[in-house]
Amino acid sequence: MKTIWLQRLIKWTTSYQKFMRGRYGQFDSLNKTLLVITLLGLLLNPWLPFQLGRILSIIMLVLVYGRFFSKKIYPRSNENQAYLRKVAKIKGFFSKQKQTVSDKRTYTIFSCPNCQQKLRAPKGKGLIRVTCSKCHQSFEKKV
Ligand SMILES: [Zn+2]
Repeated sequence: MKTIWLQRLIKWTTSYQKFMRGRYGQFDSLNKTLLVITLLGLLLNPWLPFQLGRILSIIMLVLVYGRFFSKKIYPRSNENQAYLRKVAKIKGFFSKQKQTVSDKRTYTIFSCPNCQQKLRAPKGKGLIRVTCSKCHQSFEKKV
């Protein structure tokens, strides 16, 4: 009895492998994100109008399956790369925002009275003499 199950399993595995040959067959980052959106859509469906969550989930699931079983491996992999680049860009944008916030904490930002060039100086230094980096006008500023 055991061997029959084993044979069936092997048969199933080989037919699956034959089916998957030359197909993308990867759960890359883009597919994972699409699956997360699918789940979110299903979870939030009761609170969304017009079955929007369900419709979104079905679309996302079709996309995931379409990409997973796609025979065009290179376009799929390019899609994933483009997606990863976009994510990196968004992450970069947020870390930049964080930096400007911490800048505001340690620097005073003011503009040159002559040319309106934005300048910055470390906070808490008292009265300092500033030379504008653009027009080289010198003036005093309390920081
Ligand atoms: Zn200036």
